[in-house]
Amino acid sequence: MNNNCPVCNGILASGIQPWHFECVTCCYEKADLQPTINDSSSHELINETERETGLREVRISNFNKLLRIISKLKPTGGTLVDVGCAHGWFVEAAMKKFDVLGVEPDEVVFKSTAAKGLPVRRGYFPDALEASETFDVVVFNDVIEHIPSIDNVLTACHARLNEGGLLVLNLPSSDGIFYKLSRLFCRIGKFGFFERLWQKDLPSPHVHYFNNKNLSDLLKKQNFAVIKSGMLPTLGLQGLYTRISYTGKQGMISRVFIYCAIAISLPILRLLPSDIIYIVAKKT
Ligand SMILES: [Zn+2]
Repeated sequence: MNNNCPVCNGILASGIQPWHFECVTCCYEKADLQPTINDSSSHELINETERETGLREVRISNFNKLLRIISKLKPTGGTLVDVGCAHGWFVEAAMKKFDVLGVEPDEVVFKSTAAKGLPVRRGYFPDALEASETFDVVVFNDVIEHIPSIDNVLTACHARLNEGGLLVLNLPSSDGIFYKLSRLFCRIGKFGFFERLWQKDLPSPHVHYFNNKNLSDLLKKQNFAVIKSGMLPTLGLQGLYTRISYTGKQGMISRVFIYCAIAISLPILRLLPSDIIYIVAKKT
């Protein structure tokens, strides 16, 4: 296994858990967790419908915010590919302005999105694309942190973007307050929250945790110029309970307790570093 940092090429040190590694130089973090996507048993672990409702409100509001940013940078529209488009929420919103294609590898999710009549193709990026297909915008919404070969995928993005094309990444941040809290809980032997944030034991676990700084450095190395970055809200009140419940591990009382604790803290949490960041980078 290659255990060098993809950002600064330093050797990754052992982290908090046997599967976790971190770079002491640039703070990049990696997990040696295996995806079980398209493995039928993995879908029984989480209830897809519950997962969908739980995430919907905050995701759609974040997607609209991202689209306003992209539209300002590409006022005449153009072609856009949404990699790992899942239920097609971003595809649907982006279709008003762009000529959109969604790509989704999970067969169950792909079928339900295609059934809504949305322009989606089954497969992985860039293999699912035609040899000559290029785009003005390539978007990864909560996807890039799941892809082990990060260098290859960024090279493919560069190759698949038209001149002046935009790469848009929306992903969890290791500077986020919930992530920092989860690391603190590990110090007192409570690993559940940390494992949950890495999506350990879910069909598609996270394999990277970046922050704005080290991700920008990686993009520069891959011939992209970062032109805009910022934070997006992690949580909304609507759908929060379903979101807490959807892995089905905690009991009723702890779910209610977590819900109340988060609901009360929401106004304060909004002032702290968010767990979701976005970066817009231009092909150079
Ligand atoms: Zn590093």
